[in-house]
Amino acid sequence: MVQNSNVYTIAVFDGDGIGPEIMAPTLKLLENTAGLLGGFSFEFIHLPAGATHFSETGEALPKASIDAARAADAVLLSAMGLPSIRKPDGTEITPQIDLRFELGLYAGVRPVRVYPGQSTPLSDPRAEQIDFVLIRESTEGLFAHMHEGQIHGDSEATETLRITRKISEKLFDFAFRLATQRAEKRGRKGRVTCVDKANVFRAFWFFRTIFLERAKAFPDIDADAAYVDAMAMWMVQRPWEFDVLVTENMFGDILSDLGAGIMGTLGLAPSADIGDDSAVFQPCHGTAPDIAGQGIANPLAMILSAAMMLEWLAVEHDDTALAQAARLIDAAVGENVVAKCNLTGDLGGTSSTLDCADAVIAAIQRLAGSDSYSDKVA
Ligand code: ATP
Repeated sequence: MVQNSNVYTIAVFDGDGIGPEIMAPTLKLLENTAGLLGGFSFEFIHLPAGATHFSETGEALPKASIDAARAADAVLLSAMGLPSIRKPDGTEITPQIDLRFELGLYAGVRPVRVYPGQSTPLSDPRAEQIDFVLIRESTEGLFAHMHEGQIHGDSEATETLRITRKISEKLFDFAFRLATQRAEKRGRKGRVTCVDKANVFRAFWFFRTIFLERAKAFPDIDADAAYVDAMAMWMVQRPWEFDVLVTENMFGDILSDLGAGIMGTLGLAPSADIGDDSAVFQPCHGTAPDIAGQGIANPLAMILSAAMMLEWLAVEHDDTALAQAARLIDAAVGENVVAKCNLTGDLGGTSSTLDCADAVIAAIQRLAGSDSYSDKVA
């Protein structure tokens, strides 16, 4: 927990593949921003876990790492897992998913947003208005029994999907509260859309029924529902119309990559996994083994995840300096993306990971020192 009024303990999982390459410059950026603004600092505790750790020790996520993550003020996690390192049943190790279960992180928050002026794969000029949040339930759904799937001989395999009232109620309340905060910030009515497959599966009809029940407690927010297949199409055809989408674990896993696609790259997609007592912040992307070790991975999703962490800590600890730091980092990333300044290959640039991150640090310093700073980060 916070050791004094302004030192935050951050549990850090450096991860596998490109994980350590994007984590190091992100920690440098956080320290730099803290030094620049003052009023807060960080103690980073690096914890072992991941595919490489598993291949060396036989353990993917040691209990001591879980305990330290639980005790920290927040957790910053890079990507984990490698296709070349698998368990005897053929699946990859997934400590990042296991941690969501251990810490009860039911709400996976994945913002899908385009900075004004940013180029995207969508040619429609309204793409500049894309600003919605996908909330992926992260502790049940099709992942609830993910280590218990059955293969019967060579003729059949089964997996189980579980939806509970307890988690669904928390999830939907979280979605409606987020829509309420966004409505206040954006000065327009909020809307939550439940994304499911209630026309075919009873479990999803149950999910939707609970959603509609909880909606009654938030009369100021519009509530509607959509089938996941139609939503996949609408996310491409008219994504600027959505505000908050809330969905089951597997659907959220898939739709969040689609969201990253409409932003232009997974390298710009941050996320937060939030529970009642803990929160983990990590990029939506994986370990990208195809580009690992080359120093060319995009660090911006990791940096934006760190900004989400500061925003969450600011609310948890009523610390306005952290909120200011979060807005500053976000503004600096936005400025560089729009200006195409020092971007990595996935965004059409030629910069290295480190140069891209250093350019964000330079933009933070420039913005913090400019007279119009408060306007730019407001
Ligand atoms: P997971 O299942 O763990 O999410 P994945 O197998 O879906 O992982 P990723 O590791 O996310 O895949 O990579 C998908 C593609 O996106 C790869 O071509 C990878 O190089 C690219 N990619 C992912 N993250 C980045 C990044 N930060 N910068 C540049 N390219 C990235």
